[in-house]
Amino acid sequence: LQEKLSRAFKTLSGKGRITESNIKEAVKQIKLSLLEADVNYKVVKEFIKSVQEKALGEEVLKSFTPDQQFIKIVRDELIKVLGEKKVGLNLSGSPAKIMLVGLQGSGKTTTSAKLALMLKKEGKHPLLVAADVYRPAAVDQLIQLGKQIEVPVYTGDRKDPLKIVQEALDEAVKNVHDVIIFDTAGRLHVDEKMMEEVRRIAEIVKPDEILMVIDAMTGQDAVNSAKKFNDELELTGFVVTKIDGDARGGVILSVRHVTGKPVKFVGISEKMDGLEYFYPDRIAGRILGMGDVLSLIDKLQASVDQEKAKKLEEKFAKNKFDLEDFLEQLREIKKLGSIGEILEMIPGAPKNVDFSAGEKSLKQTEAIISSMTREERRNPKIINYSRKQRIARGSGTSVTEVNKVLRSYDQMKQMMKKLNKAPKFMKKFKGFP
Ligand code: GDP
Ligand code: MG
Repeated sequence: LQEKLSRAFKTLSGKGRITESNIKEAVKQIKLSLLEADVNYKVVKEFIKSVQEKALGEEVLKSFTPDQQFIKIVRDELIKVLGEKKVGLNLSGSPAKIMLVGLQGSGKTTTSAKLALMLKKEGKHPLLVAADVYRPAAVDQLIQLGKQIEVPVYTGDRKDPLKIVQEALDEAVKNVHDVIIFDTAGRLHVDEKMMEEVRRIAEIVKPDEILMVIDAMTGQDAVNSAKKFNDELELTGFVVTKIDGDARGGVILSVRHVTGKPVKFVGISEKMDGLEYFYPDRIAGRILGMGDVLSLIDKLQASVDQEKAKKLEEKFAKNKFDLEDFLEQLREIKKLGSIGEILEMIPGAPKNVDFSAGEKSLKQTEAIISSMTREERRNPKIINYSRKQRIARGSGTSVTEVNKVLRSYDQMKQMMKKLNKAPKFMKKFKGFP
């Protein structure tokens, strides 16, 4: 998915200007990639509609950085589909009761134990309940995991799930557990018998949370069964497991949209610590495959004077970046924070460039550049040793300091050149390295 989306953006970025038709082309590619990634077609349709409407709006076409604007729109829409922010667990019951449901093999038993461990680390005293009695191995599996994470497991008579959960409620009160996690039985497909049983367990337990566990690897099937479970039960959210595999990510995008219920956790490995809260913004970034570039865009948009940047871009095109521009750049950078930090965020940008002269002593650099003649600033090549001595005297610094500034300037110029060769959307950063 990431690769495909990146390609879609490249299509957009390759063109000199963004037009209605190449936005449409990019949108089409995003649509294809989402469908290929197993995102539900209804979700894709709505998503695309909304992106297209926004992207064709005045703002993007007129913007100085239309491709960034476009990416931002896609990102914002993705986050909207994924849910705006992390949704935690409702643990208000005393004890709080969490019931896990889902198809066989989706990861219920594993997730029950992972969740118990997570809550234990948060200072809770969980009790695990083995309510899947149909496969003897299932109870043993939970006992095994319970031992590993040092959380007690209630198994009862291993026969009657309704009786087991009832007893577990009493057991929890007796042993002052503040959270009970119920692992229930799943089948290979949604069937009435299984639904009936989980419904009855839910009636007895009255859970604060009914989380459906779905396997990201099963694609659209997972989304369809999520819909069925949601129709039958008062689901409070989802756990999407196995996103560490080569799952295509579409499940996460679709499930919330189709059911209206949030994804609360994602399973990222078979191990007991392989469960994470679900952060939509992070996943959106990962789906777009651009690392922190997106947050960088936000940062830049907040603080860069686009007019100035545009002038600078023109200068670069003509290779006319002089010391005055350099000084201006340093001032912009100061506004943004450390340049090192900024370079970290740009994939493929040269690292380990020493801008310390510019960064640490902007004032001194300003003094040095101010002591140059206009001609020297425009054409730094003419600054020979005797000119350097004069500049050093004039600015109250030394020739070494003057050299440092000139070196910084050279490096920035080099870096800009490299960025010039980078894909368009990265190139945009050249105005503000
Ligand atoms: P259940 O039938 O729903 O209880 O599923 P299980 O908990 O027994 O899990 C089925 C298989 O999926 C087991 O081999 C688990 O180790 C594996 N599994 C569960 N969650 C994850 C996950 O997030 N990542 C990976 N890689 N494997 C997982
Ligand atoms: Mg199980």
